[in-house]
Amino acid sequence: MPVVSRRVGIMGGTFDPIHNGHLVAASEVAARFGLDEVVFVPTGRPWQKAERQVTAAEHRYLMTVVATASNPRFTVSRVDVDRPKQTYTVDTLRDLSRVYGEATELFFITGADALAQILTWKSADELFALAHFVGVSRPGHALSAEGLPTDGVSLLEIPALSISSTDCRERVGEGLPVWYLVPDGVVQYIAKYDLYRSANG
Ligand code: ATP
Ligand code: MG
Repeated sequence: MPVVSRRVGIMGGTFDPIHNGHLVAASEVAARFGLDEVVFVPTGRPWQKAERQVTAAEHRYLMTVVATASNPRFTVSRVDVDRPKQTYTVDTLRDLSRVYGEATELFFITGADALAQILTWKSADELFALAHFVGVSRPGHALSAEGLPTDGVSLLEIPALSISSTDCRERVGEGLPVWYLVPDGVVQYIAKYDLYRSANG
């Protein structure tokens, strides 16, 4: 067995746009699980969202960079954005375990809504061999690891932020503010590129 020298969290998401709920989840798991780093991984083409027009990956990637830049433990990976196929978490984990190597223990962070879907994900059984899953509470969703391998999943109650990207997009579309729901730089990025103003999503 290799000596584990680093503990790295993975925060996957569409991040359309990234919001303070994502950032609090990553920060809280990092603190509670003693993580050295949390890498945010914006999806390329999310398979569950094929029916919706998702904002260009480059915009979502750059908003994620803007939102995480000030935290020395937060980084952003392009593995999913640069993979030409649809995004599946099993591919994300395979790629990142290659990038970080054997001496790194991976922790995949997921909200209660996404956790409840895991068994429907591609190669679900392989996921738990590649990373330890940390399911975090999310307002409006029950946090449960039912049906998932008990030693593969931890549950964590985090400060409740009732924010979703869907709500942020709708607010911008209606001309309502998203200040304090997303980081200041993301508010400015959305305005600069005029995102979410059209019928796009
Ligand atoms: P959308 O409304 O477009 O689905 P979202 O707000 O759900 O956006 P995603 O990018 O789909 O954001 O989510 C990425 C991950 O972050 C998922 O694991 C999700 O459960 C988690 N997450 C999102 N918002 C919160 C929140 N407010 N609290 C805790 N976890 C969250
Ligand atoms: Mg979602």
